Amino acid sequence: MNAGRFAPSPTGELHVGNLRTAILAWLFARSTGRRFLLRVEDLDRVRAGAEAAQLTELAAVGLAWDGAIVRQSERTAVYDDAVAHLQRNGLLFECFCTRRDIAEAASAPHLLPGHYPGTCRSLSDSERSRLRSERPAALRLRSAVEEWTVTDTLHGSFTGPVDDFVVVRNDGVPAYNLAVVVDDASQGVDQVVRGDDLLSSAPRQAYLATLLDVPRVEYAHVPLALNRERRRLAKRDGAVTLGSLSGLGWDAVSVRNLILRSLGLPEGPLTDALEVFDVSRVPREPWIVEPSHLPSTGDATVTPNR
Ligand code: GLU
Repeated sequence: MNAGRFAPSPTGELHVGNLRTAILAWLFARSTGRRFLLRVEDLDRVRAGAEAAQLTELAAVGLAWDGAIVRQSERTAVYDDAVAHLQRNGLLFECFCTRRDIAEAASAPHLLPGHYPGTCRSLSDSERSRLRSERPAALRLRSAVEEWTVTDTLHGSFTGPVDDFVVVRNDGVPAYNLAVVVDDASQGVDQVVRGDDLLSSAPRQAYLATLLDVPRVEYAHVPLALNRERRRLAKRDGAVTLGSLSGLGWDAVSVRNLILRSLGLPEGPLTDALEVFDVSRVPREPWIVEPSHLPSTGDATVTPNR
């Protein structure tokens, strides 16, 4: 059966913006008859205890998911198969570049900022074996396109650059773009709802999906929560997590109501919101989280706006 998902990285507590994205992912999935899956993206930057805390926070705002939680760290064999498939088709090459090599070469005027300059794309066998003795290689995709177009429910047609991006890091760990595509396909995920900071990754992922012969997914990149300076919400913005808000008298239900209000949805259980959820009415603008909505830590005199 088709599914949507929420896929947090266990790097710390979820803030109100992350919880809002999770609620939206649930609403998108449920309102379209899909299962809702939870995947822990723990290949990188894991903080001890963060996964358990995040699961508790998601449950506290009333989110329930179907089936067992999938952890990327337990799925090495699945990524290995995908890498072998790409390798068999001549779609990967070893790259020995350091970040600095890339930054220097990528400053060439004809390249898009951050684009891989192609340094290791056509190394000779002898160059490659010399470099192998110096440092471990990352595996990059031998991309045949410069850009790719995806369709997004909120953004319409979106075209973004695709370069020879990393598929396996030089420490042997699968890169985010590979893991996400492989996992979505193997979990039956055909609807990807996530923060719009990841919209620019979608063309790479959708292109990779074609090379892996897996079905394309439907995207909805939802607006982020931003602070007053219109920067991505972060812990330094004050009490923005369930833990810190509870110290100011907010329970999880009040936080959920705040999130639902910001989406123009009725307060109360998520099932009430689901009844009236309408994709065409999802806000297109970022959610500006003002201190008057979320009192900052230390400012306990501010009354929570329930
Ligand atoms: N793990 C990513 C994050 O927490 C999300 C990946 C995705 O939804 O594709 O930012």
